[in-house]
Amino acid sequence: MERKLFNYWRKKLNLSDWTIKFEFNVDPDDMAIEGACCATSFVESCKSAIVQIVDPNKMEDGIVPFNLEETIVHELLHLKLSLITTGSDAMTERVGHQIIDDLSKSFVATRKDHEIKGENK
Ligand SMILES: [Zn+2]
Repeated sequence: MERKLFNYWRKKLNLSDWTIKFEFNVDPDDMAIEGACCATSFVESCKSAIVQIVDPNKMEDGIVPFNLEETIVHELLHLKLSLITTGSDAMTERVGHQIIDDLSKSFVATRKDHEIKGENK
């Protein structure tokens, strides 16, 4: 299911020109960023990336419950907007990150709305 969602959103977000290694159910000790539930490292010049998502069963509960699909979209939006949000000043990166999070929630909610209406076949 993880890979299916990943491929779905990668296509929807037009990221097929990126080479992306997708790792899910990663042990917390193996995450590139300690304590993170997700991490994406990338080289924008050659459009290559590694997206890691932690094994939710091995993660401590946060304030907001873990949502796999929103997390996937969030990480893919980091790639989509990498030219705008990376290497800019700290405030722009923070604002960019907040926008990415808002958009990922909106996109997933919209997909689910369409699913309920039976339009996502
Ligand atoms: Zn992020």
